[in-house]
Amino acid sequence: MPLSSYPEKVDITNCDKEPIHIIGKSQSHGVIIACDRKDLVITQIGENSDEFFGIHYDELLSKPLSSLIGSEKAEMLTSVKNVEDSPEVREVNINDRDFIMKPHISGESLILDFEPADSDYNHYEYQRQLSSILSTLGASETPEDLCADVAKITRDIFGYDRVMVYKFDEEWNGEVIAEEKAEELESWLGLHYPASDIPKQSRNLFMKQRVRIIADVDYHPVSIVPELSPINNIPLDLSRSELRGVSPIHIEYLKNMKVGASLTAALISNGKLWGLLACHHYSAKYINYYHRQTCEFLTQIFSNELSLKETNRYIGKLEEWESIRGDLVTQIESEGKIKKGLAEQEVLFTDLMECEGGAIILGGKMRLVGKTPPKKYVKKLANEFLADQGNSVFFTKNLSRSYKPAEEFRDTASGILSVKLGRSNKDFLMWFRPQVVQNVTWGGNPDKMANFDEDKQRITPRKSFEKWTQKLTGVSNPWLDYQISAAKAIRESLSNIILEKQKIKIDRLNKQLLEAHDELELFSQGLSHDLKAPLRGIDGYAHILKEDHYHNLEREGQQAVDIILSSTREMQELIDNILSFAGVSGQSLDKGIFSVNHLVEDILESFNVKTNYPRTKIIMEKDLPHMMGDKRMIMQVWSNLITNALKYSEKEENPEIEIGATGIEGRTTYYIRDNGIGFDPKHKTAIFDLFSRFSNDNFKGTGIGLAIVKKIMEKHNGKIWAESEPGKGSTFYFHV
Ligand code: ADP
Repeated sequence: MPLSSYPEKVDITNCDKEPIHIIGKSQSHGVIIACDRKDLVITQIGENSDEFFGIHYDELLSKPLSSLIGSEKAEMLTSVKNVEDSPEVREVNINDRDFIMKPHISGESLILDFEPADSDYNHYEYQRQLSSILSTLGASETPEDLCADVAKITRDIFGYDRVMVYKFDEEWNGEVIAEEKAEELESWLGLHYPASDIPKQSRNLFMKQRVRIIADVDYHPVSIVPELSPINNIPLDLSRSELRGVSPIHIEYLKNMKVGASLTAALISNGKLWGLLACHHYSAKYINYYHRQTCEFLTQIFSNELSLKETNRYIGKLEEWESIRGDLVTQIESEGKIKKGLAEQEVLFTDLMECEGGAIILGGKMRLVGKTPPKKYVKKLANEFLADQGNSVFFTKNLSRSYKPAEEFRDTASGILSVKLGRSNKDFLMWFRPQVVQNVTWGGNPDKMANFDEDKQRITPRKSFEKWTQKLTGVSNPWLDYQISAAKAIRESLSNIILEKQKIKIDRLNKQLLEAHDELELFSQGLSHDLKAPLRGIDGYAHILKEDHYHNLEREGQQAVDIILSSTREMQELIDNILSFAGVSGQSLDKGIFSVNHLVEDILESFNVKTNYPRTKIIMEKDLPHMMGDKRMIMQVWSNLITNALKYSEKEENPEIEIGATGIEGRTTYYIRDNGIGFDPKHKTAIFDLFSRFSNDNFKGTGIGLAIVKKIMEKHNGKIWAESEPGKGSTFYFHV
């Protein structure tokens, strides 16, 4: 929800959200005017207009802007439509005084910053400064030299008492990495400042408004009236106004530091806020618009040079690790083993970046290289911590902060960069860095950065800037962008190798499986044949018993004979089914065209359906389309499906079977429907598997019939499927 106005009270709870962009005040070295961007009528204005223009603000409100700056200058602003359009800065004369007028669009308003134009502006001097900036910064060799040079040239040009280059770390704490200062001042070089000193919203504003001055910390904030814009009743967004008033907390902070004026400029590298050029003066100091332009130019050149130097450094490293990565991949390929190729050859994966040791965990096995925590710790780290990290790349310079047990092995792994290999959450490649014990000197105790002031009812910045040294343990050197890229790249290569290996393994397994399957078929065929002879013997003798000696047997003996006979029948059926299942694969197709009606009638007759299933009504569509296929095999299909339909509907009140054909997927599709017991649709694929049965013991069977059907359909490149619901009958469809 947008804030409706700048809050009266900024306290501990909202200080990081202090909405300084809608502060509603300007600094006192100029006047802010806001107009309706559509008709350029003045809607809001600084109360100090009288002091600069000699006209009271009341007289200007609701008047056309042209009445102040003249219609010619106002005309030039009317074409402003888009926020992107940054109208040019112009000089205007108001009541015999020259002003710089700097316009920009903010929401529905056109905001104009007016500052008196300084008469001492000198073109020649300006040119000289620009060329000196270009030559000095262009000549700096390393990023470190560049920082020292920018501090020096800034102080030379602008004359601030102290100029610092302030660099952010990953957590937005800052460090003074270069400094130029008046001799008598104490040096702040190397001092660290906590992230709260330059809160997030200030950092965001620096990306929009890159150079910012506070001309006099003792200035009286000038109210802009009315507070809310009459256009839309919301406060004016002053994010891009150079005259925007300063946060009272920041003013207090500067006063506590005894600073009288400041200039701060954003230092940007590769599109990100990299640091700040911070200038302090110990009395009031105003830098006019043109000089601020020079400063913006200077930081622009600095940013370009910095990006260039960092990119060059990156490219240098990139070439280095690209060649190491190539070597590693070659080693793996020639070794055929990933762990060996990475950790036991001339080039080690730990050579990829500055580190003291590393670990590979792959397929449940671990290999350690160099200085590392003991195996059991690395294993725990992988299972209990790294496996839970969402990203495939994880890095930190302070492992024990997010993973407490790491305190045990700070000397080997305070810093860790790890990548997940493949898709598994168990395979990792890791690089370790030991802690580097550092004495960090803060500009004041970082634990006492702010206090809550009861009288002011708001947060007040710290008063003490006494140096405060802290011994930092458990922290390694940071992982740099190009090192993280190197880790990602090797992960990519390894994942490809792993996938390739898995594919080879799967292909091999597939081949073995096919061989095993063929063998099994041969075996079952042989076995069934071998079983048939003894079975015939058992069956024959059981019949002799039944026919000749039945009456001599007791009741129990008679039952036993009956069971032997029915069991041999079942066994016979099973063997026949197995033989026919195994037989299907070996046979080649002998295709022809035949009448389905005739085929089904033959089957029904052979089943003696009228006698065996007298209650079952069978309806067959007349003139079913002819079929093309191996007639003997297709007969087996129909026969198995009809057997099932008869069997599973037999116990219904009015069993009924319907046989017909329809068009599905543009093909002639035959179906056989019964009104029997049906089955759970979740088994509709499994019923076609060998030996899978889903009916209860009331229905005898072997679980082979549909497996044979499926196999025959596959041989014909056809398709079979079933639809059913328990108690609602089943329909089997197929086409070849
Ligand atoms: P079975 O010898 O058990 O009938 P099948 O391979 O022919 O073996 O069928 C496998 C399973 O599919 C059966 O056990 C049964 O659960 C189910 N099934 C097959 N056809 C039907 C049908 N028409 N109605 C209900 N269930 C059927």
